Amino acid sequence: MIQIETTPEVGAAVQGWRRSGQSIAFVPTMGNLHRGHLALVERAKREAQRVIVSIFVNPLQFGPGEDFERYPRTLAQDMAALKAAGTDGVYTPAVADIYPRDLNSMTYVEVPALSDILCGASRPGHFRGVATVVNKLFNIVQPDVAIFGEKDFQQVMVIRRMVDDLSMPLRIISAPTIREADGLAMSSRNGYLNPEQRGIAPGLYGQLLHCRDRIVAGGRDFPALETEAAAALEKRGFRPDYFSVRRANDLGLPAGADTDLVLLCAAYLGSTRLIDNLRVTLGGT
Ligand code: AMP
Repeated sequence: MIQIETTPEVGAAVQGWRRSGQSIAFVPTMGNLHRGHLALVERAKREAQRVIVSIFVNPLQFGPGEDFERYPRTLAQDMAALKAAGTDGVYTPAVADIYPRDLNSMTYVEVPALSDILCGASRPGHFRGVATVVNKLFNIVQPDVAIFGEKDFQQVMVIRRMVDDLSMPLRIISAPTIREADGLAMSSRNGYLNPEQRGIAPGLYGQLLHCRDRIVAGGRDFPALETEAAAALEKRGFRPDYFSVRRANDLGLPAGADTDLVLLCAAYLGSTRLIDNLRVTLGGT
C-alpha cells in the first residue's frame, strides 16, 4: 500500500495502473475509520482492480462553530486498517494542496434544491463544500467508480446529481449503512458521546424503525408521523433537528400513493449531531 500526499503523485500512480489496463475504485473519507468505511473499501475491491482511499478533513464542508478543529484525526490507525483491508493507495493531501487559494474567491460546485433541504437547511454551505471537494478529488484521482455510504443518504443524492448534471465520467455506487450491535449507525462522531449519551443514541434508529412500522401498517399522515417521531426523540433525551418522510428518488415530499420512501433524521445529543435514515418500500408485487 502506498501513501500519497501530493496531486502529481496520485496522477503518477493512477496512470501507471491504467497503462497496465487496471480499473480504479475510489473511496473518499475524512478518516477516523470504522467498519462502515472498511465496508466501502470491500465493495470497492469488488468493483475495480485497484482501490484508492482519500483521507481529508475538508474545511469547506464545516460551518462556523462546527467541529472541524476537533474532528478526530487518527492517521496511523487508519493506515493500518486500510493496509489490512487490502487498499492499494491512500491519498492524504494537506489542506493547502486542495485549497491553494482564498476559500472566499474560489470556484465552487453548487447542486441546487437538494442542497438546501434537511441537513442542508441546518448546515448552510455544507453540501457546496462536499460537492466541491468531491469534484476536485474525482479530477485528481480520475476513478472509474466511486463508493459512498447510504448512511449519508442526502450526500449520495447530491453527488449523483452533480455527476449527472456535469457528465462526469465515472459510476457512483452506494453501500448500506453499517451499524453497531445495538443499531446505532457507525460514525466518527459517535466518539464524542459520553456513556450516558451513547446509551441514548441507538434510540435514533429505534425511532426510524418505529416510524417505518407505522407506515407499513398503513400510516399515511406523514406530517403527523414526523411530529410524533420528533416528540418521541425529545422525550428520550435528543434535541431533534429534523425527522422527515421523503420520496427516496428525489427527496421530495411524498403523497399517499408514493411507495419508495426514505425516513431521514438528524438529532443532537449534547453538542453532537447524529444522522440516520431508513428506506421504506411499500406494496410491490
Ligand atoms: P466520512 O469519513 O464520515 O466523510 O465518511 C466517508 C464515507 O463513509 C461516506 O461515503 C460515508 O457515507 C461512509 N460512511 C460513514 N459511516 C458509514 C456507515 N456507518 N456505514 C456505511 N458507510 C458509512
